[in-house]
Amino acid sequence: MVVSERIVATQVIFMGQEQKHNCWYFMKCGREPSGALVHHFGVCPASIDRRLDGAHDGKNAGRACWVVAGSFSGQKSVPCVFAKIYKDCRKCEFYILAKEEEGHAFIEAEKLIERFRI
Ligand code: SF4
Repeated sequence: MVVSERIVATQVIFMGQEQKHNCWYFMKCGREPSGALVHHFGVCPASIDRRLDGAHDGKNAGRACWVVAGSFSGQKSVPCVFAKIYKDCRKCEFYILAKEEEGHAFIEAEKLIERFRI
């Protein structure tokens, strides 16, 4: 399934409005608070870091995970298991999805980081 098809397939129609998903829902990592794999791997910082709450309409950094838990975070050992695999979040399905969904409203990582540091 191509990304554009997944966008349609994963958008939830709720009370007549499309709801954008956070990374843990789309990637199914199980590391959101009370997620299935928290006991093994801990809570992902993207799911609890409130500094980017609302970025791209996500919960906490759920739609800006790449600057908190991924390859744009500047960490040697990134918390996101997918970021460890991809090495570059620009290759990640969720990053591609978020970028496509946001269109012109997509905030580049550098700008998110500026906001993150405020
Ligand atoms: S690989 Fe990067 S963009 Fe994908 S879910 Fe992990 S942190 Fe987010």
